[in-house]
Amino acid sequence: MQNDVQTQAQPSVQPQHTEQTTCCIVGAGPAGAVLALLLARQGIPVVLLEEHMNFDRDFRGDTIHPSILQIMDQLGLADRLLTIPHAEMHSLNLNTSDGPFTLADFRRLKTRFPFIAMLPQAHFLEFITTEAKRYPNFRLIMGARVEKLLEEDGYIHGVYYRAQDGWHELRATLTVGADGRFSRVRKLVGFEPVQTAQAMDVLWFRLPRKANDPTEPAGRIGSGHILIMLNRDQDWQMGYVIPKGGYQKLRAAGLPALRQEMGQLLPAWVEPERIETIQEWKQVSILSVESSRLPRWYRPGLLLIGDAAHVMSPVGGVGINYAIQDAVVAANVLTEPLKVGKIRLSDLAKVQRKRELPIRIIQGFQNFMQQRVIANVLGSASASVSVSSSDEPLKVSPLMRFFIKLPVIGTLPARLIAFGPVPVHLKQ
Ligand SMILES: Cc1cc2nc3c(=O)[nH]c(=O)nc-3n(C[C@H](O)[C@H](O)[C@H](O)COP(=O)(O)OP(=O)(O)OC[C@H]3O[C@@H](n4cnc5c(N)ncnc54)[C@H](O)[C@@H]3O)c2cc1C
Repeated sequence: MQNDVQTQAQPSVQPQHTEQTTCCIVGAGPAGAVLALLLARQGIPVVLLEEHMNFDRDFRGDTIHPSILQIMDQLGLADRLLTIPHAEMHSLNLNTSDGPFTLADFRRLKTRFPFIAMLPQAHFLEFITTEAKRYPNFRLIMGARVEKLLEEDGYIHGVYYRAQDGWHELRATLTVGADGRFSRVRKLVGFEPVQTAQAMDVLWFRLPRKANDPTEPAGRIGSGHILIMLNRDQDWQMGYVIPKGGYQKLRAAGLPALRQEMGQLLPAWVEPERIETIQEWKQVSILSVESSRLPRWYRPGLLLIGDAAHVMSPVGGVGINYAIQDAVVAANVLTEPLKVGKIRLSDLAKVQRKRELPIRIIQGFQNFMQQRVIANVLGSASASVSVSSSDEPLKVSPLMRFFIKLPVIGTLPARLIAFGPVPVHLKQ
């Protein structure tokens, strides 16, 4: 007997269309798109549902880490992926009181790809889904918004989604929620993430980029400010870190005050005219920085991966990497059970077990960075007009400078950022 999940109020629907597949994936972000490709190439029928009509969404990061490039290489796709115009970040440098400090030098790693590729996420998703479309058992449905789950006898048997032509019922052996930080699937099953306290928010805006600008990321950390500039071809994507609650103060001080602050922080090669392009608050968006994870990522017939299972803070820019690593582990564990059409709860638990430790470690590291380093740099949230009160430049201890030069230990930050604490490889 059909018994729809009652955990959250769900719309009552009269589907005009009923379809069937083996794996239904909700959300064509990095996690969902890569999982769909990996299952499709194994001959498993997959339907990937994406609520938007295209991949050109708000900025959600453009970073493709060495670990993902290695996985693309295993698939024979890395060289083609890297023909898409991109920038390459070879190291992560900080400006400190004693001059520049290289926290992570990817050139010291043993990999074919000693860099982070800064490749527009929309192009990456387009590339992955185009590749998946080569398999006749794969279907991508854009403009398909999942609003309801289909549960029978405690087992999730698929979803109801709304498309331009009305409601659809999609039945599946396995449903995967890869629908991001505001996951609808997570809400529908009533899973409550455990939040970790956050000390910061981020202002996002764009400034024009010129042909002779540097290609590597730029910015400023220290002297009470954190400002990050990421190369997005025609624009610089700017991230200005502020203490939680600092936004109202900035708004009250007004845009001229923000522009003036930027003028003092930006590198000298950014002329004042570029800052003047920020004329309205609607050009500036506020990202509430969150970090959380679910105690349990699965239910019979359902698995959550990526940000839907663990919202990643933007610190270190690793969320895409971890979302794709979840997809690879899910494909490694679930391909054979999906081929025989039988998914046990223990298979789903195994995916969570393999991914939980790396997620906990990286979130712990992000929280440490936010609470100790970033909070120290920013000072208290009770600053006056400026978002910060500390005027101390960032300091790096002589011991840290010594360790970072050592052959193996010194590459630890680069390895952690490039591959995560537990490197992931594709099984087949
Ligand atoms: C402002 C910002 C900057 C960031 N910068 C970086 C960075 O530089 N590097 C980095 O690695 N990470 C970054 N992150 C984190 C990164 O974006 C996420 O960790 C990553 O995108 C998670 O991938 P995902 O596939 O799990 O989810 P998402 O990328 O969020 O994809 C989820 C998909 O599901 C779709 N969807 C949602 N609901 C439904 C529904 N009901 N039905 C159908 N489809 C649905 C969405 O439209 C979306 O396409 C940033 C995040 C933010 C917010």
